[in-house]
Formats: sequence, C-alpha cells, structure tokens
Amino acid sequence: MLRLSGLNLPLDHPADAIAPAICRRLGIEPHDLIGYTLYRRGNDARRRNAIQLVYTFDVEVRDEAAVRDRFAGDKDVRPTPDMTYRPPFAAPPAFAGKRPVVIGAGPCGLFAGLILAQMGFRPIILDRGKVVRQRTKDTWGLWRRAELNPDSNVQFGEGGAGTFSDGKLYCRVKDPRFLGRKVLEEFVKAGAPDDILWEAHPHIGTFRLVTMVESLRATIEELGGEYRWQTRVDDVELDSDRNVRGLHLHDLATGTDSFLETDHVVLAVGHSARPTFEMLHARGVYMEAKPFSIGVRIEHPQGWIDQARFGNCAKHPDLGAAAYSLAHHCSNGRTVYSFCMCPGGRVVAATSEEGRVVTNGMSQYSRAEFNANSGLVVAIDPARDYPGGPLAGIAFQRQWEDAAFVAGGSNYHAPGQRVGDLLAGRASTAIGEVIPSYKPGVTPTDLSRCLPGFVIEAFREALPVFGRKIARYDHPDAMMTGVETRTSSPVRITRGKDFQSLDTPGLFPAGEGAGYAGGILSAAIDGIEAAEAVAARILSAPVPR
Ligand code: FAD
Repeated sequence: MLRLSGLNLPLDHPADAIAPAICRRLGIEPHDLIGYTLYRRGNDARRRNAIQLVYTFDVEVRDEAAVRDRFAGDKDVRPTPDMTYRPPFAAPPAFAGKRPVVIGAGPCGLFAGLILAQMGFRPIILDRGKVVRQRTKDTWGLWRRAELNPDSNVQFGEGGAGTFSDGKLYCRVKDPRFLGRKVLEEFVKAGAPDDILWEAHPHIGTFRLVTMVESLRATIEELGGEYRWQTRVDDVELDSDRNVRGLHLHDLATGTDSFLETDHVVLAVGHSARPTFEMLHARGVYMEAKPFSIGVRIEHPQGWIDQARFGNCAKHPDLGAAAYSLAHHCSNGRTVYSFCMCPGGRVVAATSEEGRVVTNGMSQYSRAEFNANSGLVVAIDPARDYPGGPLAGIAFQRQWEDAAFVAGGSNYHAPGQRVGDLLAGRASTAIGEVIPSYKPGVTPTDLSRCLPGFVIEAFREALPVFGRKIARYDHPDAMMTGVETRTSSPVRITRGKDFQSLDTPGLFPAGEGAGYAGGILSAAIDGIEAAEAVAARILSAPVPR
C-alpha cells in the first residue's frame, strides 16, 4: 500500500474525479489502480474564491515496486506505515500486585486508565469531580444561575477539562508511534463520528464528548478497571527514599478520609489542580514554573469569519464553519496569538475557584451557533512576569482572575470590552453589534482593570494587524471577554525519560497539568505513554520508545 499525499482537487469536484486524479499523479493506467481509501482531507483556502480540497489517500496499485522506484525521494508518495497499536506489555495472569492508580479522569487519565486496563493491570481511577451527567448539571449551574461547585465544574469531573469544549482533536506533537491514531480509533469505538479519522482538523463538540467518556468508562470497567468519583487526593505518602507508598483520599460525598496503598501513581490532574500542585510542592516533589499565556476571548459573528476566509465558498458543506490562526510579534517584545479557536460556538465560564472569573470556549459538533470565538492571548514567562518560585504562576493567574471577578460585578459575570473602546483607551459602557455569548452575563467595562498593561498594549498593536488579515477582525463592536488565564499549566512537574518524577519514584506526572501536553489529543497520547511506563516499571522492563 502507498500513501499518496498532497493531491489537490477543486472544492466541488465530482466523486468520480478522484481515481483519474490518482492515476494522473502516479502516472499509471486506470486498470493499474486496484483501490484507494481516504486517509486525510484538508483544504487550501489561500485563494478564497478557488478553494482546493487537499487529500491524502492510501492507494493499492498493481505494480507497487515500480511506482515506488519511480517516486523514490518524493515525500508525497511513500509506503503506508503500519499504524496499529500493540500494547507493549501484558500483566501476569490474574495480576495480584498493588493496583496502579490514576489521578484524574481527563483525556490523559482516561487513556492511561484504558491502556493499563487493556494490558491487564486493573487500574483505579480517582477524580474529585462527578460522573459526566451529574457534572453537566453542576457546570450549567454556574452558567445559568451563577452557582459554582468547586469540585464539579468545567475543569473537574469525568472527561476532564475538555468535556465542555469544541473537542478539537489535533496537535503538533511528534508522534512516530501513531499513538494519536490509537486515541482517535478508541474515540470512534466510543461513539465519535468516524470523520475524525480523516478530517485534517477533526472536532467532536460537547454533546458527543459526554456520551463518549461514558462509553470509555464502560470499556475500562469491563476490563477490570475501577473508578472512584468525588474522591479528592489530598496528600501523597512517601517512604524514607521518597518512593510513593499511597494516597490520602477525601470522599466529597460522605466527608470521610481514607488511605489507598499503591506504588504507582499516574498524576493526570490537569492545569487547574492548584491545591494538588501546592500539596506536591509541600511534599518536596520537584517542579518548576512554566511559561503560559493570558488574555481574553474575542468574538465576531461567524459569518464575518466565513466570508473573510472562504469568500464565495462560505457555507460550503465540505468546509464547515471557518477557523483561523493568527500571531503577531509586537514592538514591546510580546507575542499576541489566537488560541483554541471555536467556530460557531460560545464563550464559557471556566473557573474552578470561588470569587474568580475565567473564560474559555466550546461548541457543538454542528458549530452552528452565531458567534466565532477564540482566545486572544499574550505569551508570558516566569523570568519576566512571575519570578518567585514554582508556584508563582498560580499566584499570577489568581491575581487577574480575582480582578476579573470584581470588574465583572462580583457575581460571576465576566468583564467585557468592545474592540473599538479598547483601541481608543476608554471603558465600554454598552455592548454593540456583537452580542457576547458568555453566561451568566457580561459587564461592559475597561479590561485594563484585570489584565497587565503590557497585554493591553500588545492587543492595541496586534488587533489592527489582524484586521488586515481577516476583514472586520478589529471591528469596533467585536467583543472581548476576560480573562483567559488557563491556557496551559503554570507548572511543570519535571520527569525523567522513565516518565517518573525526578525525585519521587513511582509518581508519573503526565498530561497538561504536569506540563507535558496541551489539548485533548496530546494529553491522551501522554496518558498512553505514562501507562506504558508504569507497566514497564512494574515488570522491570525498559520504557517503550
Ligand atoms: P484535565 O482534562 O484537566 O483532567 C484532570 C482531571 O483531574 C479533572 O477531571 C480533575 O477533576 C481531576 N483532578 C484534579 N485534581 C485532583 C485531585 N486532587 N484528586 C482527584 N482528581 C483530581 N483542548 C483541545 O485539544 N481541543 C479543544 O477544543 C479544547 N477546548 C477546551 C475548552 C474548554 C472549555 C477547556 C476548559 C479546555 C479545552 N481544551 C481543549 C483543553 C483540554 O481540555 C485539556 O488540554 C485537556 O483536558 C487536558 O487533559 P488532562 O487529562 O491532562 O487534564
């Protein structure tokens, strides 16, 4: 089988144009093409009124050796790689050792749990939040009634932070073992649409994610895994050589404390697990402050973005709602960029702590809501912006989240500002043409009350630049809602090549919270590798590469 990439066809090409195009590209006769399957489809919208679909196909031809010889050195014609995932280890029959424990049921913890279960290690998965259906009610409690449950919300609970999201499923991590493919295939088995296997920028949307995490849970349980919900890890027990010996748990439903003995812990707690980071720091677990980004969500009508990106082709069913990706290096040395863009979605309240306001974005599979939203953020780093130790980034986040709560009216409404007002240096007093989607509500104000001056200054320079790339991006009524502070983890819980904490054997920091992933897919991939590393340690085997 050959993998043929970079095959461009016009947006409205008929289905029967594909086979002749493959034959032309490979220089073969139609009867030499045995068959083909779609591996990936993206689009090239650089000429917005002449958009091309860009295909990658796995192609079966009659004389593969001859074609390979002719295209030796052509990076678009290669042998199809074997992408099958094979678990590298298997637990001894009726594994009776201490069960490995996974903290966190987000994408990282779910995949660590799934792989450990598939290898026969019967993991225990702990999460401070609730099962996804109950969690949904709590999450909507904040959005509809301004009532926050600090243990069950958009950050905490079954499915982790990505459950109420756009469900974008792509990442830029190097993936030589095709672990991302394993994740997508498990998602499809769990009920995701199978287009995620071939769309260049796949996404799932919130409703489907909810069903999928339930289905993954059932699979893990069938394989002998066990979940404990509303179970918060409050402390870690170490022996005199700093080996993990167990976890102190607090059952939030009953208010009781207990101890769980284990030698292997995958720490997949996500970027918002601030009390857990504080506890680990107090226990002497090595960690460092890490760069992240802060800013706002910006909203425009999706129609403006579709028009700017796709011109006459806007609304074409093969294109869907248009996304964008922008970056500008400012004269004050800062970089402003778009982050986690959600076409046809909404801005959501994403705090996990009382008295704080945090924004993020989500959408449904259809991406049919009125506004496009994206994080508009500025990269910051410990040396320049929050010196003072591993936890200083958390204090920095809290400072601006507190300020946003106050600027929004101290009732979980978010502070917002029209772009025109921000550019003119005046507070907003009203909303314009773009109606912000954030619930429970948006208070027009001056965002400089809740963001550092260098961020506002960088926005003032970048927005007109972005307006030249995407028409009406800097429209006076485009709406900015803040603050976006949870773009990635403020800490890195540094690990060695064996995936274990540098100074705490048996602790496997993984996923976004540990600073090793950014997004659903990369967190899930990291979970797979962490699970393999746990199995390797249990069996005294080398970690797979
Ligand atoms: P998390 O998903 O954060 O999971 C951590 C889990 O650990 C939580 O369930 C939490 O309850 C649990 N936990 C924490 N502390 C403890 C403790 N002490 N004891 C027990 N349990 C604990 N990424 C994308 O790729 N695409 C998107 O479209 C996208 N949209 C997003 C939209 C929103 C609204 C948000 C909030 C995030 C979005 N992300 C998106 C980011 C993505 O969700 C994260 O990168 C991903 O979830 C990280 O996975 P994780 O498993 O490392 O951590």
